[in-house]
Amino acid sequence: MTATAHALVAGAIVSRFTDPVTASLLAFGSHYIMDSVPHWDFGTNWRGRSKAATGALAIADTVCAFTVAYILFAGKVGVVPVTIVTIAALFPDWAETPWYIFFAHPKKHEPGTHASMWERLAYTIYKFPNMFHAKAQFPLGLFTQIATVAFFLILLQ
Ligand SMILES: [Zn+2]
Repeated sequence: MTATAHALVAGAIVSRFTDPVTASLLAFGSHYIMDSVPHWDFGTNWRGRSKAATGALAIADTVCAFTVAYILFAGKVGVVPVTIVTIAALFPDWAETPWYIFFAHPKKHEPGTHASMWERLAYTIYKFPNMFHAKAQFPLGLFTQIATVAFFLILLQ
């Protein structure tokens, strides 16, 4: 899902569970639960776009995520807890970025036979969360995402 969707749920979690360790673990877990709902995000069609464009979109999405989290939740629980828990919620996607940045390209789906140890490691880290990742196309994948975020916001109220 988009970083903004993950950050909204992270903010709701830290508002409900004020202990930063508990909130961070829940936020980290929420990432995989949310990603298992079929959805669209900036990673969905990355093969049809330049890597620079996807990178710029990812950075913009991350800036938007933190901005929204601070506006909605920092006043209530403080900037530091919101920052920590948002990082925990976004971390699974950041762990995937070395594969995208250094090794992946549109025609390559996995490391080649002569791939380095670093490439294999990056691929393994990328592959693991993708077992949970269910994709849907825009706009349906955006609606499922809004519904998922709404569900968590109501649940955590
Ligand atoms: Zn994700």
